[in-house]
Amino acid sequence: VDRYIELLMELSDAFGPSGFEDDVRELIINRISALGYSYTVDRRGNLIAIKKGEGNYRVIVDAHMDEVGFMVKYISERGFIQLVPIGGYDDRILPGHIVKFKTDGTFVEGVFSTLPPHVLTQEERSKPLKLDKLWVDIGANSKEEILKKGISPGTPGVIHYNSRKMGNKIMGKAFDDRAGCAVLLYLMEELKDVGLPYDIVFAFATQEEVGLKGAHVIKEQYEGDIALIFEGTLATDIEGVSEKSMITRAGFGPALTLMDRSVIPSHRLLRFIEKIAERNNIPYQYKMPGVGGTDGGAYGLKNMEVAVIAVPARNIHSPTSLIDVNDFTATLTLAKEVILALPEYLNRER
Ligand SMILES: [Zn+2]
Repeated sequence: VDRYIELLMELSDAFGPSGFEDDVRELIINRISALGYSYTVDRRGNLIAIKKGEGNYRVIVDAHMDEVGFMVKYISERGFIQLVPIGGYDDRILPGHIVKFKTDGTFVEGVFSTLPPHVLTQEERSKPLKLDKLWVDIGANSKEEILKKGISPGTPGVIHYNSRKMGNKIMGKAFDDRAGCAVLLYLMEELKDVGLPYDIVFAFATQEEVGLKGAHVIKEQYEGDIALIFEGTLATDIEGVSEKSMITRAGFGPALTLMDRSVIPSHRLLRFIEKIAERNNIPYQYKMPGVGGTDGGAYGLKNMEVAVIAVPARNIHSPTSLIDVNDFTATLTLAKEVILALPEYLNRER
């Protein structure tokens, strides 16, 4: 599993806001081709690989490739850039960070322009800066210069930090949901030569952060009995947060969704996953109900049982989120054990 920590870091560093998942998809395609899988990419950019099995059941295993980011909205004559968000970014954390834009062949960096405290009134100092009042400076002197660099309205960007190890955690910008992508790649490698009594559809979805768009397309193309969603979810166990507000906690194992804003998972399937975790001594925790949403919301509209298993990530939807290494490796192991044990569940007496 240790190799997969490096792979997760590589995945997190890849550029891929919703609608611009190309680099992430490329990385995954290289990997699964090397493993000998064939694949398809649909018109919406979803990447699908199918492992055939014996029997009539089919399981969809999903992770989304996209991350939150920005798109260039407007460029001023003097050479400043205004952005709109792609997905849910928190305006408060933007100033002081570097934005990385992807142009046709290269990346261009810029910073958010901010006034120093010397010239601010007391009131201005206490108010967070909103994205629609922020301008990005790439060091250009005019609009023309920016256009020449390949940046124009529609150009995507993200706040980028290379992932790195910090104590027993790893920091990175896109564990939501490259953690899930890494889990799928792990399953694909581990199960490559394992005969299973059901088909597995490995679905790497696009545009989750803007409304589960890719998964909605996938669910129309592929029927299944079960959809297992692998995610990075919010860990709110930071200093100053009371116990009752801890959605999940880093270091307490994979988080199982009881109910979020997108879906109520199958509680029978949930009980089965708990059983498998206990049988294999894998720690797990529950994600506090009522928060967030995942691709499970799309599959849940079809005749499928849904479950969501997630790696808790502190500071999610920020460029510096932190996950616990043990939570990640435990999620890999749990994913594999659940997949291997699924025949027990599928063939149970109903
Ligand atoms: Zn996600």
